[in-house]
Amino acid sequence: MLTHIPKEICRHLHRISQKSWDIVKVWGHHISVECQVFVANEVQTNQDRLKELFQSITADSCPNTYNFHLHTHHSDGRLHPQQLIQQAIKTGLKDLAITDHHSVNGYWLAVSYLLSQQGISAQPLPKLWTGIEITSILLQTNVHILGYGFDPNHAALEPYLQGTAPTEAKGQAQQVISSIHHAGGLAVLAHPARYRRSVKELVEGAVQLGVDGIETFYCYGNNKPWHPSASQTKALAQLADQYGLLQTCGTDTHGLDIHQRL
Ligand SMILES: [Zn+2]
Ligand SMILES: [Zn+2]
Repeated sequence: MLTHIPKEICRHLHRISQKSWDIVKVWGHHISVECQVFVANEVQTNQDRLKELFQSITADSCPNTYNFHLHTHHSDGRLHPQQLIQQAIKTGLKDLAITDHHSVNGYWLAVSYLLSQQGISAQPLPKLWTGIEITSILLQTNVHILGYGFDPNHAALEPYLQGTAPTEAKGQAQQVISSIHHAGGLAVLAHPARYRRSVKELVEGAVQLGVDGIETFYCYGNNKPWHPSASQTKALAQLADQYGLLQTCGTDTHGLDIHQRL
């Protein structure tokens, strides 16, 4: 059935398959189907839809309807991508992104698992967007920049998918943001109230570099149940309003429950 697999996708599959036997097994079984479906649905990033979705986010969106900040064991999280997706399906999450540090391997495995559930799952399947979290320097401060809805095979992202933080010029926020844009994605300043510099300065600095949004809704105290921190949310929402920024939410899950940070 499969007549043609675009070269860059198979190069990518080859590259990640050398890193983990786990992936070899998964892709080994599904490679033709995966490639076809991937080509049809995933390479064509849909920035407008993602923007609309981000515009609809409120303090109540995460963690039960959306979650745009999740880690797997392909960076410093504990969940296998398949477990993460199983929880997302079970709890009826609508849209999500896996935002591992400097890796999209977890994303690929999650796509693979989601595809294997098409037509099988009794519950609706969530929409999985591409995601990444990149350590960057903004105003001489170490920050994290999230990328969403990009083409994971785009050459501009290659330096940021190596499993380690980018160095020198590649690590400057300006370069990170423009690389995400080149790959067709949106760039968002992660948890802006968690750094060694004021929220106002960092958000304004990021705006100057063309950032698309900020992670307004974030639980700084790791409370249970998860909820966006009130005072930080208020300050960030005001800045977002002032600069016309998109606002996102996410649990920044590193543990075993996608509704909590840890
Ligand atoms: Zn972070
Ligand atoms: Zn994170």
